[in-house]
Amino acid sequence: MERGRLIKEIAAERIQLLYNLAVGTVGRDADLSSEYVKTLRRISAHYKVGIPDRIKDTICKECNLVLVPGLTASVRLASSKGYLVYACKRCKKENHIFYKAPVKKRTAGKS
Ligand SMILES: [Zn+2]
Repeated sequence: MERGRLIKEIAAERIQLLYNLAVGTVGRDADLSSEYVKTLRRISAHYKVGIPDRIKDTICKECNLVLVPGLTASVRLASSKGYLVYACKRCKKENHIFYKAPVKKRTAGKS
């Protein structure tokens, strides 16, 4: 039990470390940066450690590029839907980042 917990802690640390590396290299070598992200995803899957939302939200789901506004992504606001659209400049995939919980059901009443 104790050992399992420790391994997950180390894995979570590695994920953070690899993310930092990916952010640090994306400006000069996008391919290397993507490799860091791929490794990060492998660690997450292998050790069954979730990737924190703040990291997951800034990685392209399609090509594993770190999404930096103005550099690797263009950002626009879909305010009626409650999310930001991070469009990856490499693969053009649109990644949605919710800044409020999705509205499930509208109940009748004053808005
Ligand atoms: Zn992409």
